[in-house]
Amino acid sequence: MELELSPLALPGIEAKRPLVIAGPCSAETEEQVMATATQLTNKGVKIFRAGIWKPRTKPGGFEGHGEEALPWMQRVKAETGMLTATEVATPKHVEAALKAGIDLLWIGARTSANPFAMQELADSLQGVDVPVLVKNPVNPDLELWIGALLRMNAAGVKRLGAIHRGFSSIDAKIYRNSPMWHIPIELARRFPQLPIVCDPSHIGGRRELIAPLCQQAMDMGFEGLIVESHCNPDAAWSDAKQQVLPDVLDFILDRLVIRDNAELTESLASLRKQIDEMDDSLMDLLTKRMRVSREIARYKQNHNMAVVQTTRYSEILDKRGAQGAMCGMDPEFVKRIYEAIHEESVRQQMEIINK
Ligand code: PEP
Ligand code: MN
Repeated sequence: MELELSPLALPGIEAKRPLVIAGPCSAETEEQVMATATQLTNKGVKIFRAGIWKPRTKPGGFEGHGEEALPWMQRVKAETGMLTATEVATPKHVEAALKAGIDLLWIGARTSANPFAMQELADSLQGVDVPVLVKNPVNPDLELWIGALLRMNAAGVKRLGAIHRGFSSIDAKIYRNSPMWHIPIELARRFPQLPIVCDPSHIGGRRELIAPLCQQAMDMGFEGLIVESHCNPDAAWSDAKQQVLPDVLDFILDRLVIRDNAELTESLASLRKQIDEMDDSLMDLLTKRMRVSREIARYKQNHNMAVVQTTRYSEILDKRGAQGAMCGMDPEFVKRIYEAIHEESVRQQMEIINK
């Protein structure tokens, strides 16, 4: 399925800077909202984020002020000229946010994981021209993320984008949410026109990780950044550890290197050509290997032997794992390759034996 998209048409900090959305995790008080927005607008940030309805893992945390906080967002817009953005999780949120003139809506990670909730939200946005960014679901499921985007798009939301905020993982140690970059990269490969914004705050979970994650996102060609920034991060009512001062955000953005990948240099093109040639040879070798494997299947069939000979299989895994390590590769990586080759080889042998 395809996505029918039109440009988000949202402002970056300057022509060369990516699209930047910044603001506190939650709108806590009118003063905190205004102070943060004023400091951010002074640094050139043009889109202000703040959570008004906060999905909390456990009850008892600060769940947002709800509609009461919407006039504060209106004040931000009126006094700074910034565009405003907030998370919506129900059609009621959508209605209230649109009524208050919120300019950009995002769908949180807990909501995008639920197709019923996504469908209800999509239905509530039918016929409304507002940019919508869909965060990846908490679990690393690309198809579920794509499904959420497709539902929005089918309802007519064309100014559509995705936010990569990392994925829950039992062994996430450095990061609060494991980035699993291959997932947003695959999303970009499947939908080259879809803008993808990185949320380093919820990936990192810690202030120190914001700068390197922002740079990584830019290096991977992401369209923009959504960063949590607070006028007094340590006193924040939610996600205190990951929020940065507007000053710090400015410092981080200032140092971002935006690489120009529009033009492939000669040497890169030549290196890629070498890779292509080697991949051709790899495919050629694999094809030959499979052919021999099928011959073995015929032998096994004639001699009434079982397809999988575990001792032989272990021998291959051990031998090639050790060889890979000597060549500077991770033995686990080599093992995974051989497991995959063996699986396909067994599949082809079974086909012959069961003919
Ligand atoms: C947020 O942006 O503050 C938020 C709740 O994020 P997520 O849905 O990614 O957890
Ligand atoms: Mn947050």
